Amino acid sequence: MKHIAAVGAGFSGAVIARSLVEAGYRVKVFDIRDHVAGNCHTERDPDSGVMVHRYGPHIFHTDSERVWEYLHQFTELMPYTNRVKTTSGNKVYSLPINLLTINQFFCKAMSPTEAMAFIEGQADLNIADPQTFEEQALRFVGRDLYEAFFKGYTQKQWGCSPNQLPASILKRLPIRFNYDDNYFFHKYQGMPRDGYTAIVEKILDHPGISVELGTKFTREHVQEFHHVFYSGPIDGFFDYELGRLGYRTLDFKEIRAEGDYQGCAVMNYGDESVPYTRIAEHKHFSPWEKHEKTICFEEYSRACGPKDIPYYPIRLTQEEAMLRDYVQKARDEEGVSFVGRLGTYRYLDMDVTIAEALEAANEFLTLVEQGRKI
Ligand code: FAD
Ligand code: UDP
Repeated sequence: MKHIAAVGAGFSGAVIARSLVEAGYRVKVFDIRDHVAGNCHTERDPDSGVMVHRYGPHIFHTDSERVWEYLHQFTELMPYTNRVKTTSGNKVYSLPINLLTINQFFCKAMSPTEAMAFIEGQADLNIADPQTFEEQALRFVGRDLYEAFFKGYTQKQWGCSPNQLPASILKRLPIRFNYDDNYFFHKYQGMPRDGYTAIVEKILDHPGISVELGTKFTREHVQEFHHVFYSGPIDGFFDYELGRLGYRTLDFKEIRAEGDYQGCAVMNYGDESVPYTRIAEHKHFSPWEKHEKTICFEEYSRACGPKDIPYYPIRLTQEEAMLRDYVQKARDEEGVSFVGRLGTYRYLDMDVTIAEALEAANEFLTLVEQGRKI
């Protein structure tokens, strides 16, 4: 029997491989990099002993019972609550915007009801149906908070003005009229005790799965396999024949120190004059561990070149049109399913990635069972 190929050893490829091998298939997993876990890759820094999130901080959060339980088969998830701080105008505030942020920023001592009325007074109520990031911010938090916390950060993160970005990006963040500073509003949140790479290694640890690292999979290999699940970049699969979809990439500048460098895991920088978006101090992602030394990374965002690692799909208007054409080509491509963050060119959190991977495997098995074309 021919193998199934899973291209990419991130959560998408690994979860699909595991589901199909458990249904009786043999699966070959390919990754161009020399490690598994894709952008969620973690490794211990040999000098400090700290578990480092190599491609930027990853916190697991979900509302899905199914995904939460699925992950528990492969790891112990330690209690963790993401509490982010931000520096703006040389002062430190709490994120997401909550009552503490509002009271400190405006030097007031308002109750929730008073703060709600106050922010309503700040908001631009003429914007009935916000379309852009900027309109969404002006409509819901007003100009002062927008300029302090969102305008500069977003300009640095996305390399364009917030009035060119969709409102949906800001909708990821809540605004709270109480003192809850949990960055996420999901039911479950946690951090894997031994990092994310250990999870993916365990998912892939099955006699029916073989993993080939340092191997680039291209369209020419497709016919060697019974079916291919491709979690690499959709435009790369078609050799960029319709053009390149835009991504942001990240550069990390390492900082090493003794003790506690910044006192929290993530410190954002709202001012445009600071060139990085945030600093992550990775020992704080594993608060159950104790380390004398510390390692942090300043995060710089820039346009992704042909040799860079793609991180964030930009999805501006011109990308939407090109994406539609690539998606059509992907639909017409026989024997290949496009999955995951790069394969579908969407910003996906880990929980959604896992849920969609389970779904893709399930759909494949159902179609095979019904004798239908895949
Ligand atoms: P990837 O992890 O990107 O895996 C795809 C793999 O395919 C890569 O390893 C790549 O090397 C390989 N590949 C590509 N092309 C080929 C080819 N031709 N041949 C062979 N291999 C190939 N999510 C959260 O839930 N919480 C967070 O806190 C969080 N933080 C994030 C922070 C940053 C900075 C970023 C960028 C993302 C964050 N995410 C977070 C999202 C998370 O990284 C993704 O959900 C997840 O990585 C998606 O998994 P994937 O398998 O689809 O893609
Ligand atoms: N954002 C901001 N200031 C901040 C944090 C976030 O302007 O201090 C904006 C930024 O545009 C970002 C978006 O809000 O892309 C969503 O924030 P989130 O923390 O979800 O970003 P991600 O996890 O994608 O890095």
